[in-house]
Amino acid sequence: MSSTKIFKGDIVFTTTPERFTLIENGFIVVVNGKVDNVYTVLPETYKNFQITDYSNKLIIPGMNDLHCHASQFKHLGMAMDKELIPWLNDYTFPEESRFKDTEYSKRIYGKFIKEIWKQGTTRIALFATVHKNSSMDLIELFINSGLGAFVGKVNMDTNCPPYICETLESSLEDTEEMIIKYKDRSSLVKPIITPRFVPSCSSELLKGLGELSIKYNVPVQSHLSENRNEIAWVKELFPALKYYGDVYNKFNLFGQTPTLMAHCSFSSDEEIALMKENNVMAVHCPSSNLNVGSGMMPIRKFLDNNIRLGFGSDISGGHTCSIFKTMVYAIQVSKLFWANSNKEISFLSNPEAFYIATKGGGSFFGKVGSFEKDYEFDALIIDDSNLNYANYTLEQRLERFIYVGDDRHILHRYVSGNLIEEPKGIA
Ligand SMILES: [Zn+2]
Repeated sequence: MSSTKIFKGDIVFTTTPERFTLIENGFIVVVNGKVDNVYTVLPETYKNFQITDYSNKLIIPGMNDLHCHASQFKHLGMAMDKELIPWLNDYTFPEESRFKDTEYSKRIYGKFIKEIWKQGTTRIALFATVHKNSSMDLIELFINSGLGAFVGKVNMDTNCPPYICETLESSLEDTEEMIIKYKDRSSLVKPIITPRFVPSCSSELLKGLGELSIKYNVPVQSHLSENRNEIAWVKELFPALKYYGDVYNKFNLFGQTPTLMAHCSFSSDEEIALMKENNVMAVHCPSSNLNVGSGMMPIRKFLDNNIRLGFGSDISGGHTCSIFKTMVYAIQVSKLFWANSNKEISFLSNPEAFYIATKGGGSFFGKVGSFEKDYEFDALIIDDSNLNYANYTLEQRLERFIYVGDDRHILHRYVSGNLIEEPKGIA
């Protein structure tokens, strides 16, 4: 049986990065969880339908977080005094090793899901840890929450401390088991192949993961060209390959199935060209790049080259799960490029940043991130009345909410047309 829902409010979305679509006092008709149409005046056909009235509230697409480490949630906002490799060894690996204990992991993952729900993230791509059982628990928690997610059991079998290092065989077996168990279980929550990054994976592991991704048609996520020392290390490990992304590509982990590559702060022109050719999505994680001191991603270069883009909170390198705040950091970093280039490299506009957070990033999950016809109705209802002055335009209200609003202004969250209640935490 088909279900029709009608929502009334001040509607904002983007169909292209150039401009907002703004409809004051508009209507969104949602049929079976998908947008059927958006109207300024509701057609007669719907006159007997019940309307969910969000008048004077903003209705915007949900936020998509394309790179995030759920297992690092407990370290949010701390341990920022080291750069990438020492940061991993001294803080992150010891914390991730605790996820062997599934009681511990369920508690942290439960708190994590509550937090992203609170911040208005409706779909997310996640790194768990190397541990199969707690990674599968994370999938179950997401299925129960109603939010959308790709969940990756992390793979690493070399160059990591023994307490968190897998064997080649167990890494591949556990990954395959998780894929078989969950690839068709839910339309919203799915597994994703997750080599941590090139230095922590042997050639044999990368080869095996590439084979699994193709055999089961499963997407891939990893890190790429995040930090200069890391890039030099990859060059030492694979001297015959031209650049970092070339390593993933050799092993069928670079766009052979849908692929997310986080950071890309120092990607060469050749690497960017291959991303374009293979339709690899670049994930900009400005908060993490600033905190771990990795570098600045030249986002304008990626936009100019028509590379698919999304944002990542990348906690706990990043210190906030909010994709709204991630948008602000991305705009700020782009303004540093603008200033340093003598104003030649234009900075990110508000519609561009909003597009990347919604329709751009959302494209990894299907038709997600817009209110165009047939898009999944993933939406946030924002009550910005206490930020608002009478003469503000819709565009100004949105900008102000992005910069100075927070989770207290988010009244409701919808995924695929369903109202998502606060996930039940685990004590
Ligand atoms: Zn990361």
